[in-house]
Amino acid sequence: ASVVVAIDGPSGTGKSSTSKAVAAKLGLSYLDTGAQYRAITWWMLTNGVDVDDAGAVAAASGKPVIVSGTDPSAPTITADGADASGPIRTPEVTAAVSAVSAVPEVRAAITALQRDIAAEAARTTAGIVVEGRDIGTTVLPDADLKIFLTASPEARAARRGGELKARPGDAGVDLEATREALLRRDAADSSRKTSPLAKAGDAVEVDTTDLTLEQVIECVVTLIED
Ligand code: C5P
Repeated sequence: ASVVVAIDGPSGTGKSSTSKAVAAKLGLSYLDTGAQYRAITWWMLTNGVDVDDAGAVAAASGKPVIVSGTDPSAPTITADGADASGPIRTPEVTAAVSAVSAVPEVRAAITALQRDIAAEAARTTAGIVVEGRDIGTTVLPDADLKIFLTASPEARAARRGGELKARPGDAGVDLEATREALLRRDAADSSRKTSPLAKAGDAVEVDTTDLTLEQVIECVVTLIED
């Protein structure tokens, strides 16, 4: 039998690192749904769509073909065949993604993709770990296991700052600015009308503030195996 695991939570909780590691450890597929929202945002920015115009974003929402590779050791993402894995991590995309992903037509298109990928993985593989903001509440309400990761704002900002610092060329990272941008994005993600960032009633909450990545991975693996 296959297993479908939903891992939700705000940024900086170790969601991606945890989800990838757990999937690799257990031989499961992996889907980064944030990467899909980032890819459609990148496509809009590079195709002249005004991302502050919800009507224009809605009209373009069905245009790009977004394809996700689900191998946790080498996840891939393309938009209309172009490799999007680098550009989706730029500050321009990060700044625009909350507005684009708040548009209901965008969510409908990406949610349909996510359900197809999860169903295919459940049918043909040992299962899948799907990470995002609304997987347990909206995308896969029947998931076998739902995890909601949290951490203090300070811990989340420090982790995100550390990730940015680790990137070549990003010498000076302003922790305070990082913290503010991250909290702004979480507030936007939590307050949007369609499928906001939220913990499902039947999700297991794991506070990662005082845990190492290895401890969080171990905790989630144990929950899946039980
Ligand atoms: O996880 P990541 O930071 O890459 O997600 C980028 C953005 O994509 C989030 O800030 C949110 O606006 C959007 N998102 C979403 N629903 C998801 C995953 C991501 O709205 N399931």
